Amino acid sequence: MITNCNVVLGGIRIPFSLPHFVREKFAEYYHKHSSDIQPPSTIEKREFGFILLKERVMVRHKGFKNVKDLGSFLKMIVPSDVYYSSAYYERPEEKMEEKGWMGADLIFDIDADHIPTPCEKDHDKWVCKKCGAVGRGVTPRKCPGCGEQKFDEKTWPCEVCLGSAKTETMKLVDFLMRDFGFSSEEMEVSFSGHRGYHVCVESGEVQALDQMARKEIVDYVIGIGLEPRFHGLGERSEKKSRILTGPDLNDSGWSGRIAKGTYEFLLSATPEELQQIGLRKKTADTLIKHRETLLESWKGKGPWGIIKDVGVESWKKIAQHGVEKQSAKIDTVVTTDIHRLLRLSNTLHGKTGLRKVMVPITGIEHFDPFKSAVAFKEGTVSVTAADAPQFRLGDETYGPYQEETIELPTAAALLLLCKGRAKMVE
Ligand SMILES: [Zn+2]
Ligand SMILES: [Zn+2]
Repeated sequence: MITNCNVVLGGIRIPFSLPHFVREKFAEYYHKHSSDIQPPSTIEKREFGFILLKERVMVRHKGFKNVKDLGSFLKMIVPSDVYYSSAYYERPEEKMEEKGWMGADLIFDIDADHIPTPCEKDHDKWVCKKCGAVGRGVTPRKCPGCGEQKFDEKTWPCEVCLGSAKTETMKLVDFLMRDFGFSSEEMEVSFSGHRGYHVCVESGEVQALDQMARKEIVDYVIGIGLEPRFHGLGERSEKKSRILTGPDLNDSGWSGRIAKGTYEFLLSATPEELQQIGLRKKTADTLIKHRETLLESWKGKGPWGIIKDVGVESWKKIAQHGVEKQSAKIDTVVTTDIHRLLRLSNTLHGKTGLRKVMVPITGIEHFDPFKSAVAFKEGTVSVTAADAPQFRLGDETYGPYQEETIELPTAAALLLLCKGRAKMVE
């Protein structure tokens, strides 16, 4: 079945048409690498979806018996993007309601779009589809010019943004391993090939979870509705005096995370940051003045109550900020969707020409997406860049470019072409 759509489809947005050069290179990639495609487990129970490079349409509800058939299909159609279902179906090729849902992996998406970064205003742009108003940074909900809600968005797979996404991914993995008890063998972490990371948990224990159960996992990970007072932060009376208590760094689950978030916040907070979370200037100054004592106090039972002038309400605000720091910024919609299509590993991302690649769980911090995901390592091509920020691929840095024709290595040119920041030289 072919669905012609230029809108968002289950989170998949089909961009503008791509130059012939991109099609040639993608075809070359699938001819050379169709045997390296990493199939999902139980391939015969998965639905597959593709965006066709030439026609710019989505083809879905495809099924494959084995990876060889999938590889041959990729060579034949040359997609810009390849997806598979996180769900297992009895009949993956049927219509949604007739597929026979059998279960789904537990998936997480960490996208730079959901993490505020200071550089967004430098590399992200939006254009109102109705009145043509243009702005930088995060796309507004409504156009300030005409009130319309449709925009052309130009984002960028920026190194700083992806660094933030990686930090969130590491927090998520920590939740999944320490709080939920999944092993590294049950998890797969990958760089999406564009602006984020995916974490997929494949375990018999998660397959049957319904949307509500997945929502609860989401709430836990993002720390929604978390009350520090249920984690021991409060006052109690003892021998006519009031004692302030709170969670300890060694506590398990969110209690320990609150303590850790509080500790890390106090470690570096400025008086201004303390006031931003709602503390009075006097309280902020007192905390800064006693910072050394506070940090030292964690070796015992923590800072709660150690400074007379800082009361329980102030500590709650600090602890709440600790929660915010410790929570993992995931795209909540993805995890609760039990029919979600997910990009397939070792396939190309149509917005960058980079590969989706697996990230080793031990050593995530050292993973370099701009090295590991580069798919094309040979040749150069001339392009005319319109408006491109500075970027790095491998050890080379390129740009920024403003209305200029340059000869670039294939991977760098593809990135600009796929992101709509350059055109082929006529
Ligand atoms: Zn407008
Ligand atoms: Zn950025």
